[in-house]
Amino acid sequence: GIAWVNGKFSSLQEAQIPFLDRGYFFGDGVYEAVKVCEGKLFALKEHLERFERSMKEIRITPPKTTEEFAALVLESVEKAGIPNAMVYLQVTRGVGPRMHAFLPESEPMVTLFVAPMASAEEKVREDGVSCIIVPDERWAHPHIKTLNLLPNVLAKQAAAEQGAYEAILVLGTEPGGGLITEASSSNVAAVIGGKVVTPPLNGRILPGVSRAIMLETAREAGIEVEEREITLEELRSAEEIMLTSTGCEVLGVGKLDGVTVGKGGAGPITRRLYEIFMAGWEKRLT
Ligand code: PMP
Repeated sequence: GIAWVNGKFSSLQEAQIPFLDRGYFFGDGVYEAVKVCEGKLFALKEHLERFERSMKEIRITPPKTTEEFAALVLESVEKAGIPNAMVYLQVTRGVGPRMHAFLPESEPMVTLFVAPMASAEEKVREDGVSCIIVPDERWAHPHIKTLNLLPNVLAKQAAAEQGAYEAILVLGTEPGGGLITEASSSNVAAVIGGKVVTPPLNGRILPGVSRAIMLETAREAGIEVEEREITLEELRSAEEIMLTSTGCEVLGVGKLDGVTVGKGGAGPITRRLYEIFMAGWEKRLT
């Protein structure tokens, strides 16, 4: 097979992409696969139309016109000279420092390969194939720190575009306003009725290391904490809101959707939690 990476053909084995490509860190990209039968492309127009829709959905500006993509695919198939093959075409948001929100200066990265692909054999086509049933859980495992981060990227970008630091995620749209899970790259806690509350580790959030240390140091200091669900309504009327993460430690939230949280600024319990979090810093250093 052959590969094409941002303007250059190579063998499939020799093809290399930059380490800082956002596809690699976040899955921040879209792709198409087109079948080649006896040297001819099947339904190329439909595939390229979907490709452009996919780019539009995740707000990647197509780096080429439909005609240019078509020409590239045709040229690659001809160059590969594999009569029965698959063309894989991918575009990512490009290369740059690893940050969730879009990088204004990054240019989309286009990659493509053509590799042999056989169709099902006659016997298989006659007998049919066997399948199993598996629950649809795409991607329902936010407790695993995976590279499936496109939804987090889009949430963080939405925050950035409104001049906000973080996007706090809500699950469901029940009358109570749905449940708060976590933020795009941090965990969330709030002070409600004088008590520190944070959503439980029920598989719907990443078990943050900072979250665990915040809870541990709070308990040690005799501050009451509770792991339970928080509704959006509750969060909106919380006395204090805070974020925890490796990057931000324990950080107060001053505004939520433009509305001042509690009495404004980082609240007293948040400040205290930050202090005791940092007080235990030394003993956790390796
Ligand atoms: N939730 C998500 C989705 C994250 O990406 C992060 C950052 N790794 C966190 C929570 C916070 O985890 P930690 O305190 O381990 O950095």
